[in-house]
Amino acid sequence: VTATLVTGIGELVTNNPEIGDGSSLGVLHNAALVVEGDALAWIGPATRAPAVDARVDLHGRAVVPGFVDSHTHLVFAGDRAAEFAARMAGAPYDGGGIAATVAATRDVADDTLRKLLARRVAEMRAQGTTTVEIKSGYGLTVATEERALRLASEATPETTFLGAHVVPPGADRADYVAVVSGEMLAACAPHARWVDVFCEPASPHAFDADEARAVLEAGRAAGLGLRVHGNQLAPGPGVRLAVELGAASVDHCTYLAAADVDALAGGDTVATLLPGVEFSTRSPYPDARRLLDAGVTVALATDCNPGTSYTSSMPLVIALAVREMRMTPAEALWSATAGGALALRRTDVGVLARGQRADLTVLDAPSYVHLAYRPGVPIARAIPLSGPHHAHG
Ligand SMILES: [Zn+2]
Repeated sequence: VTATLVTGIGELVTNNPEIGDGSSLGVLHNAALVVEGDALAWIGPATRAPAVDARVDLHGRAVVPGFVDSHTHLVFAGDRAAEFAARMAGAPYDGGGIAATVAATRDVADDTLRKLLARRVAEMRAQGTTTVEIKSGYGLTVATEERALRLASEATPETTFLGAHVVPPGADRADYVAVVSGEMLAACAPHARWVDVFCEPASPHAFDADEARAVLEAGRAAGLGLRVHGNQLAPGPGVRLAVELGAASVDHCTYLAAADVDALAGGDTVATLLPGVEFSTRSPYPDARRLLDAGVTVALATDCNPGTSYTSSMPLVIALAVREMRMTPAEALWSATAGGALALRRTDVGVLARGQRADLTVLDAPSYVHLAYRPGVPIARAIPLSGPHHAHG
């Protein structure tokens, strides 16, 4: 295995408080690191770097852990630009447009869908994302959900069965919940690590607490970890259900009661905020400060999907979190990396340390603060330093 010394790192964010400046970001200045294969073999001050075969000089750029985008819906065909334009002209969002993407996605061949998915994953990598979670949910039949997860599992180990995205138009609710928890789950579980449900009683298309519980408990019995879409459109039971069932993450968390914040603070479920959704639907942002001040672990993700957040950019999400949700640049970067890793219960990503994966994102900037300070400027990219694994991420 070739060892490569990366020097000229003006600022290195490790998310390891034991090294560097002692902050939760573990920042080192004038740093270097050694990559061997997929792993970090050494990390420290440039003046103490060991001699190795190959060298890369980053000329003072900042390096951060690769972004962990823990919530996306990348397996789809078509787009909903017309719906977006209508919404910007004043039409409300209630989850009903998902049916349009379901129809477009069912319509295309496996290979078309595979190419669309690969292009989106590459687009994310080009913006610094090295770990991505991908959900199904635009099939809503046994065969099409199985296909979505099979294709997603070619791109990432973090695959999520979201048959309970919406009740298909015309379907009987109880019958559909039974299929999702039975035959569809059985077909999808071999390709999935997680099960997720859109728990939103305020939407006629989504699922109430009893329906969500049935799907999640069936998923758990099939060996899957739990995730929940909760409290996006109105106050509701999603957050408390997620904490009660020990879900790894509850995502959106836009409308929270005091009891929801208390539950999150007392449990080990991560609150994943998706400000690209509020930006793209012109809705009120979640109260990140309230969660952080209560001691809740917060992650940030794109929710990349064609209806409510068609962005693949974690730097945009970081900028929104800072500007619109009053997270500090340090909090936002931590939540987009280490926080996302916790939301996926991963300990091998989101932190840069000896022996960990060498998932590195380099910034064309001297400091991570520029991620929020220079919104819309493409300064972040994942660097392929070693073997074929890094070509795909
Ligand atoms: Zn989502």
